[in-house]
Amino acid sequence: MDALKLLTPRAGLRVLITGGASGIGLAIAKAFVSTGARVHVCDIDGKAIDTLASALPAVTGTRANVADAADVARVFEDVERELGGLDVLINNAGIAGPTGGIDEIDPADWEKTIDVNLNSHYQFARRAVPLLRHATDGGVMVFMSSVAGRLGYGFRTPYSATKWALVGLAKSLAIELGPDNIRVNAVQPGIVKGPRMEGVIAARAKQLGLSYEDMEARYLEKISLRRMVTQEEVAASVLFLSSPAGSAISGQALSVCGNVETL
Ligand code: NAD
Repeated sequence: MDALKLLTPRAGLRVLITGGASGIGLAIAKAFVSTGARVHVCDIDGKAIDTLASALPAVTGTRANVADAADVARVFEDVERELGGLDVLINNAGIAGPTGGIDEIDPADWEKTIDVNLNSHYQFARRAVPLLRHATDGGVMVFMSSVAGRLGYGFRTPYSATKWALVGLAKSLAIELGPDNIRVNAVQPGIVKGPRMEGVIAARAKQLGLSYEDMEARYLEKISLRRMVTQEEVAASVLFLSSPAGSAISGQALSVCGNVETL
C-alpha cells in the first residue's frame, strides 16, 4: 500500500469523541469526518452539540456529563444505536481545574478535576473495550493528556496529576488490551492556540501579578519552536494514530507541543 493510503484512516470508522463539541475535540471530529468516518460526540454543552449537528449533519451527539456514570451509560446506548459498534474511542474531555498552591485549592475543585479528567476516562474505557474487541481492523483508544503529563506544573497540581495519570492508564491498557488487537496511546498537546489557553494564561498572570502579554511571552520562551500549536495539528496526530500507518504503535505518549522545555 502507498504511504498516503497508510496515513488515511479507513473510511467508515466508527468514532466516539468525548468533549467533542468544541475545542480540540471538535477539530478531531471534523478531521475524522473528512476521512469518511462516522462520528458520535458527547459533551456537557448541549448548545455546542446543536451547533455542531447543524454544521455537520453526519455527526450525532449526546448531551452528557462525562463525570456522571449514568450519563456515560446513556452515551453508550446512543453509540450502539447510532454507530452499531465502535472502532475508535477518543478520551478528550478535560477541564483546566483550579490554579493555586496546594494549600489554597478548594477540595471540591480538586475532586471535580479528578472526576472529569481521570475517573470519566475509566468509565469510558470500561464500557468501550467490549465494543472495541469487535472493531473491524482492531480497536483504537486515545487519551488526551498534556505536556503537563510529561513535565511538572506548579500551581496546577490537580490538572498535572490527572494528565500524568492518563499516561499510566494508556500504557497499562496497552499491555492489557494488545492481545485483543486494541491499541492504546496518549497524545500530549502543548500550548494550544484558542480561548481555553487564553483563560489559563490569564489566570496564571493574575496569580503572578503580571500582564497577559508578559505572561504569554514567558510561555513562548519555554517552547523550542517559540510558538503555540494548533487544534488541527493535535487532530492530525490523532488521525495518524487511528490510521494504518499507526497500526504498530501502542503504549506511547506522543508529544505535539513544539518541544516545551519547562512549564
Ligand atoms: P475546551 O474547554 O475548549 O473543550 C473541552 C470540551 O469538553 C468542551 O466542549 C466542553 O463543553 C467539554 N466538557 C468539559 N467538561 C465536560 C464534562 N464534564 N462532560 C462532558 N463534556 C465536558 O478544551 P480543549 O482545549 O479543547 O481541551 C481538550 C482536551 O485537551 C482536554 O482534555 C485538555 O486538558 C487537553 N489539552 C488542552 C490543551 C490546550 O492548550 N487547549 C493543552 C493540552 C491538553
